[in-house]
Amino acid sequence: MNLQAIDVRRGKPQRSGLIPALCLVAVAGLIGRNVAKLPCAMANQQQAEWKAGIASVAITPEQSMWMAGYAARTKPSEGKIHDLYAKALALEDAQGGRLVIVAVDLIGINREMRDWLEKEVKQRYQLDPARLLINASHTHCGPVLHKSRDSIYGNSFYGLTPEQIQQCREYSQHLQKKLVQLIGEALDKPAPGRLAYTHARAGFAMNRRSKTERGYRISPNPDSPVDHDVPVLRVDGADGKLRAVMFGYACHNTTLSFYKFCGDYAGFAQQYLEEAHPGATAFFISGCGGDQNPYPRGTLALAEQHGRALANAVEAALISQARPVRGPVQAVLETVTLEFAEPPSREQLEEEAKSDNKYERLHAEILLKELDETGKIRTTYPYLVQVVQFGDDLTLVGLAGEVVVDYSLRLKAELTDRTVWVGAYSNDVFGYVPSLRVLKEGGYEGGGAMRYTELPGPFAPSVETRVIDKVHELVKKVRASKSN
Ligand SMILES: [Zn+2]
Repeated sequence: MNLQAIDVRRGKPQRSGLIPALCLVAVAGLIGRNVAKLPCAMANQQQAEWKAGIASVAITPEQSMWMAGYAARTKPSEGKIHDLYAKALALEDAQGGRLVIVAVDLIGINREMRDWLEKEVKQRYQLDPARLLINASHTHCGPVLHKSRDSIYGNSFYGLTPEQIQQCREYSQHLQKKLVQLIGEALDKPAPGRLAYTHARAGFAMNRRSKTERGYRISPNPDSPVDHDVPVLRVDGADGKLRAVMFGYACHNTTLSFYKFCGDYAGFAQQYLEEAHPGATAFFISGCGGDQNPYPRGTLALAEQHGRALANAVEAALISQARPVRGPVQAVLETVTLEFAEPPSREQLEEEAKSDNKYERLHAEILLKELDETGKIRTTYPYLVQVVQFGDDLTLVGLAGEVVVDYSLRLKAELTDRTVWVGAYSNDVFGYVPSLRVLKEGGYEGGGAMRYTELPGPFAPSVETRVIDKVHELVKKVRASKSN
């Protein structure tokens, strides 16, 4: 196992309450003068407030494998550009409240894997499931994971051979074990640290939904909504050195569609930041980029350019004034029931099962099987919403699925009393989550992409209200628990 653990205590260990040597010099120079403005002791208190443990591990498959994300791929992977990583940031507040954020360079962690992981992590490390947030970069140049139900996010839609399916299963099992060990590594070495929030902007994400005579198509649309914010959480050690930088962006991680393992622009951004800040670990958190693409796209050089643009935005944020993020950290994770539109009838499905379109045919066959086996087609989806509250300073929302940009824009417009960071592709990547606007417009994110999953079809118009109401409910709940 190639665990590349980075110990935040490395360098100059500091005990809580110890005034750094530099401060003592300043104190000596100020004896007899007005020392009221001396910031060192205050800064030291802030540093002592958090403990942070950081670990990372390469998760690149050791052999050639089928790659996730594009149904049209015709062959397995052929080498790699760089390694894919899983990284864990374990935080502990002054009261011992914990939070673990895991970021992976993968298409998405599915619910099966999330459920297995949270159970395992609770058993081994007594970590409450609400305090585990897993975010996927959604690179389309990573391996296909195993999923027992059919989906483009799992192994079943690619026409894989039994041997290839077995390979996906083995990789996924190995990955799960690696992730549990990774979380343990991060939890194992809490070291004093200080958190601060800052942000910047990057401009390469563009709305990808364009209206045509034949409905909405995936094509750059400069006139539709975007969210160019780059939220940044910096973790500094007690010695003032940058130990971790977690940053987000709302844009599909899909500059590339070739046959080499690669983290795409998000992978390059992390790589560039780690090269520029030796000893620091960079974490990418996917935002609400369900309907956003990096443009232009299609070449390795462009993925590197977008990675550089995002890393530059993070660097700009790092040199700007960051606001301290204090504890305690509280978290809630709950399910809200999302409704699907009326499912197709058996007659409709039997018709679609004769379609020339392979994916329409497969989708119809899956639903007919469900109908035969259970007597009905599911009408709801158990959707995970997670809210993490850092003191009075930062609210982090973790939404499941491929969430369109309207959600982050709306939540940030509605939750104006605190800094809000909206992550998508969290805990369960199962399909697109359209806003009511996108649902009504239709097209790929509006419901068309459901044919690549085992789910019946578009969501019902209640989808946006259900998700947004749940976020508001959980924000109230998590903030109330803080004051208890
Ligand atoms: Zn996607």
